[in-house]
Amino acid sequence: MINLYKSGGNISSVNRASVSRNSPFVRRMAGAALAVVVEKLNDFAPENLAEKWDNVGLLIEPYTKRNINKILLTNDLTENVLDEALALSSDMIISYHPPIFAPLKRITQKSWKERIVSICLENKIALYSPHTSWDSVTNGVNDWLAASLPLASAQPVIENLSNPSFGAGRICVIRGELTLGAAVDRIKAYTKLKDLKLAIAVNRNIESPIRTFAVCAGSGTNVLKGVKADLYITGEMFHHDILDANHQNIHVILLNHSNSERGYLPIFRQILLSMLKKYQGIQIDVSEQDIDPLQTY
Ligand SMILES: [Zn+2]
Repeated sequence: MINLYKSGGNISSVNRASVSRNSPFVRRMAGAALAVVVEKLNDFAPENLAEKWDNVGLLIEPYTKRNINKILLTNDLTENVLDEALALSSDMIISYHPPIFAPLKRITQKSWKERIVSICLENKIALYSPHTSWDSVTNGVNDWLAASLPLASAQPVIENLSNPSFGAGRICVIRGELTLGAAVDRIKAYTKLKDLKLAIAVNRNIESPIRTFAVCAGSGTNVLKGVKADLYITGEMFHHDILDANHQNIHVILLNHSNSERGYLPIFRQILLSMLKKYQGIQIDVSEQDIDPLQTY
């Protein structure tokens, strides 16, 4: 499990495969049916692992069936990422966050969400979203984030009722011992982030030893509340919950919401390539347009 994550989340290192498979003949013969890809996605992370409030699975299924040859992986499906999918002639987009969450009452051109749905349909692009099923599953987003530090063990913070090895967040024991400062350096190197936010626990400092830590990809406010650990690593937390954690001798590292998730995409690309290896000519790209909306200036 851990070796899978050694390469970290280097999106820029993912080579875009040759586009020489664009000839109509090859596109007709190669690839896999949408139903096959969806089945493989479900084999990896069953949709019933997702939280009850979530909206996961196949969200857009074009009327005209065509084989899936080109898949684009993204954390968020913004209009910039959709332009990229059109330029790449993607047949399918796998967007970690569900682009359709609140019910849509109409599909016009007035809002960006409606435009995304209409452009996908018009261009016969299927859309799948795994979201919290990927958070829960083994070798998913939280296991990727947990592997940012040397691990002796990692278990879900909130166990899945049907399978206790799956679940939300991870509570981890460090292999060996690290100072907080060394942990910060390792997390930056692993995530390839130039900066992160650190809230140091009251009465502790950058040299304090870290023996246990808890992670929650995305927003950690609910999952991490009350969890005992030396350090929390998450994307975002509310101000008062950070103060609460610091007063319970817990340091907090915030990466920004999607920066705590996005580095998993190159890992999942390898997993999906392996699951689809018997189908010829499938190209899987990781979006280069997908970035966290919050940048440091
Ligand atoms: Zn998220």
